[in-house]
Amino acid sequence: MCVRSCFQSPRLQWVWRTAFLKHTQRRHQGSHRWTHLGGSTYRAVIFDMGGVLIPSPGRVAAEWEVQNRIPSGTILKALMEGGENGPWMRFMRAEITAEGFLREFGRLCSEMLKTSVPVDSFFSLLTSERVAKQFPVMTEAITQIRAKGLQTAVLSNNFYLPNQKSFLPLDRKQFDVIVESCMEGICKPDPRIYKLCLEQLGLQPSESIFLDDLGTNLKEAARLGIHTIKVNDPETAVKELEALLGFTLRVGVPNTRPVKKTMEIPKDSLQKYLKDLLGIQTTGPLELLQFDHGQSNPTYYIRLANRDLVLRKKPPGTLLPSAHAIEREFRIMKALANAGVPVPNVLDLCEDSSVIGTPFYVMEYCPGLIYKDPSLPGLEPSHRRAIYTAMNTVLCKIHSVDLQAVGLEDYGKQGDYIPRQVRTWVKQYRASETSTIPAMERLIEWLPLHLPRQQRTTVVHGDFRLDNLVFHPEEPEVLAVLDWELSTLGDPLADVAYSCLAHYLPSSFPVLRGQASSTYAEQTGKLTEFVSNLAWDFAVKEGFRVFKEMPFTNPLTRSYHTWARPQSQWCPTGSRSYSSVPEASPAHTSRGGLVISPESLSPPVRELYHRLKHFMEQRVYPAEPELQSHQASAARWSPSPLIEDLKEKAKAEGLWNLFLPLEADPEKKYGAGLTNVEYAHLCELMGTSLYAPEVCNCSAPDTGNMELLVRYGTEAQKARWLIPLLEGKARSCFAMTEPQVASSDATNIEASIREEDSFYVINGHKWWITGILDPRCQLCVFMGKTDPHAPRHRQQSVLLVPMDTPGIKIIRPLTVYGLEDAPGGHGEVRFEHVRVPKENMVLGPGRGFEIAQGRLGPGRIHHCMRLIGFSERALALMKARVKSRLAFGKPLVEQGTVLADIAQSRVEIEQARLLVLRAAHLMDLAGNKAAALDIAMIKMVAPSMASRVIDRAIQAFGAAGLSSDYPLAQFFTWARALRFADGPDEVHRATVAKLELKHRI
Ligand SMILES: Cc1cc2nc3c(=O)[nH]c(=O)nc-3n(C[C@H](O)[C@H](O)[C@H](O)COP(=O)(O)OP(=O)(O)OC[C@H]3O[C@@H](n4cnc5c(N)ncnc54)[C@H](O)[C@@H]3O)c2cc1C
Repeated sequence: MCVRSCFQSPRLQWVWRTAFLKHTQRRHQGSHRWTHLGGSTYRAVIFDMGGVLIPSPGRVAAEWEVQNRIPSGTILKALMEGGENGPWMRFMRAEITAEGFLREFGRLCSEMLKTSVPVDSFFSLLTSERVAKQFPVMTEAITQIRAKGLQTAVLSNNFYLPNQKSFLPLDRKQFDVIVESCMEGICKPDPRIYKLCLEQLGLQPSESIFLDDLGTNLKEAARLGIHTIKVNDPETAVKELEALLGFTLRVGVPNTRPVKKTMEIPKDSLQKYLKDLLGIQTTGPLELLQFDHGQSNPTYYIRLANRDLVLRKKPPGTLLPSAHAIEREFRIMKALANAGVPVPNVLDLCEDSSVIGTPFYVMEYCPGLIYKDPSLPGLEPSHRRAIYTAMNTVLCKIHSVDLQAVGLEDYGKQGDYIPRQVRTWVKQYRASETSTIPAMERLIEWLPLHLPRQQRTTVVHGDFRLDNLVFHPEEPEVLAVLDWELSTLGDPLADVAYSCLAHYLPSSFPVLRGQASSTYAEQTGKLTEFVSNLAWDFAVKEGFRVFKEMPFTNPLTRSYHTWARPQSQWCPTGSRSYSSVPEASPAHTSRGGLVISPESLSPPVRELYHRLKHFMEQRVYPAEPELQSHQASAARWSPSPLIEDLKEKAKAEGLWNLFLPLEADPEKKYGAGLTNVEYAHLCELMGTSLYAPEVCNCSAPDTGNMELLVRYGTEAQKARWLIPLLEGKARSCFAMTEPQVASSDATNIEASIREEDSFYVINGHKWWITGILDPRCQLCVFMGKTDPHAPRHRQQSVLLVPMDTPGIKIIRPLTVYGLEDAPGGHGEVRFEHVRVPKENMVLGPGRGFEIAQGRLGPGRIHHCMRLIGFSERALALMKARVKSRLAFGKPLVEQGTVLADIAQSRVEIEQARLLVLRAAHLMDLAGNKAAALDIAMIKMVAPSMASRVIDRAIQAFGAAGLSSDYPLAQFFTWARALRFADGPDEVHRATVAKLELKHRI
């Protein structure tokens, strides 16, 4: 086995024969048993294996080193280390086992790099089926050599695998003689092994040709008198071998096969038609083969009277009106040929079905190469670049065609191409959808919002990829663009994007052409999911790109007021203006840039903000004392009538359901259609009062549950639960946490959801279920395990449980620092044999984790937005208090420590607000997944920041700050509780650290 060459076969596929006559002549020349050149007679070809028949270890090592970030050349150097007595050569002579070799070899590499090197994985790759595959060009050559009566042999330096079989990933039947170093205990370039091979062939050295990629092995062979060929790349080596042998090693029409019985066409009538078309009298027999591709429109190779032709026809049977439009293919190729685009020369369109049963057209062969594998294995980077440059050049040519000049203006609809494509994709996807693919759902929302702004109309190929191009055999030049079946008029960007797709798909990705075969069709679901995830990653990257390129918002435009007004004892201060420039420019919009000030919001959202502010000042703050007394009264477990009254008022003023992010509700079907950033400003304002979120139907846990229903609910689930929640007629709770397990890790939860007939039966013990005690609570969104044996994140499911289902037993309300938070409370509950119809499952069994993540994305940062509101209000209260309160002869505000506390609080609030807005903005631009780090950061920061700010305010208030005369004590309680309720701080810290280590090394 040779180690030096880094070349693989280019696996180029000959599509059309270059010159049929030449081939025929060579075929005749080669039809004798022995072949002569320069007086010598060759009777056998001997092949080395690695680097000649299969990729060399050096080549495999190069790929593996890139993947594993190992310095290039390390493996090769280590393989050569020690020469004859190095571990590699001893392994080849079977003096050490695979285990022994890997041990020694691993040590060697590790010493070289001063760090451990996973050589096992290199060895697995080297011997894997994917890599250790014979080059097709060599298979073809061996077939031809043997067809001429010559012998073939493989003479390989190879080794024993751990299963005690020798490593020889070849079809043994191809060779008359096989000599393996590990079996003989001798390696090339030891002359004995060559002699052994010749002996077994029964030949003299001069009667054989030896191909190897390693100079030292060739040198010894040449010394013995064997003719040698150095293999740098198999393709060129085969050409050299052809020259030596004097006959072609590649014949036949590649990618064709005999015509299948079901695909036969009447030869006689075709022959008659072609004679008329070509104007020829005598023809000889008509040769007909079928191309492997062209499942959609069957395609045939025809040879008649020395003419090489291609026939493409419609498939038999009833067809969809717009499909298989071969007339269009014919038309566009004819038109493009006139415009200088390289296309096969079309000869005739025959729409008369009586000739061969369906309409068809005929074109000339276009001899050349088709590169099947877009990674162009075995080619030099510069060669690859040249090929792709030629591909791009031809695409530019197609897109530059003057539609009017070539008469193609009516070849398709003009304009609006990409929006139409997106609509069509969505329709087609929905029609064939078998299960929900989350990334696809996100794309369906995202794409219409991010269509390219400028559009052009040109000819669009529709299936522009490398293997639809015929290349010149020696030059990087496209001779013809094939397969125009999907061509139309459209946006050229579509072709560009499609042609780039191969760059991002794994090489194993099956190519789907025309009507997919059944094997492919079976995999289609998985492929769709794969491509959806890939596309979503692009959407995320695009979001990041926009985010990074975003211009800074001028900080001087920031301007806002606090909520505080003097009338209420709860808000004992005047308003504060905080701006250098009083108003932001009205041209400022809230989409695109990061809006850090409510005054920079777009005019309609700014108006909404002011309406809400007015409502807070006029309706909410004044109602707080009464609402607070209700919570302390015996009637506290019933909703306050004042709340219900305020809800109606908020609804009437359009201050209702502001929370649902535009991204989840792009058509604004259910909510106000605000972006997360826009909502952040409004949510902060609502957060200044403990009651405002409920008054505006924007309070947890309903918001998260409503968003869950919008994103994942069926239409029936939405009708039953979402609508009453959106109308504020019902409330809901979310039941996940369990007393017996650490529920910060949701995979721990134990409640069971078992199937029984057409029901699910729930058993479990939950606690801290916010809102469950509220008499208006009609829905419990329940998380439990449907399959404890499934992978960790596929065990959980989410069920919608009506609160009036028998078996839900509320044990007690829990308190937070003694506060009950009536009427919703935080309940401890048992679920005993609770039977729920199967249709109440959300998304499907095993999807609970995924849903919980989606539910808590935006919902969780709403808490952070509100915490900024808590803090602003606490600071406003503190400032008013310290100005009016005298101690030791002067107002408290004159104390340096008080000033320091105020300054510290202001700075901390501003820092946290910026982080909230940044997270919200990133969620708008790139989605919740991309914003994961920012979401975790703000969840880590906001509650403790608020706790500190509120605590300073309490301190400045004196003992009054702890009483219920002011909102400070409650604010403090909830800020502290949110360090659990929103997931413990430590979990967010762990996320931040993990992402930091992953992405920012
Ligand atoms: C006011 C309030 C309302 C709530 N509302 C709801 C609700 O409506 N529905 C619901 O299902 N739940 C609710 N919860 C429960 C809340 O979600 C859980 O308390 C939280 O997830 C933590 O779970 P746990 O209490 O089981 O703590 P555990 O999981 O037992 O964790 C205990 C502690 O372990 C430490 N810890 C955990 N993970 C890590 C880590 N990765 N690294 C380092 N340390 C770690 C932390 O200090 C953590 O606080 C609410 C809680 C409160 C306080």
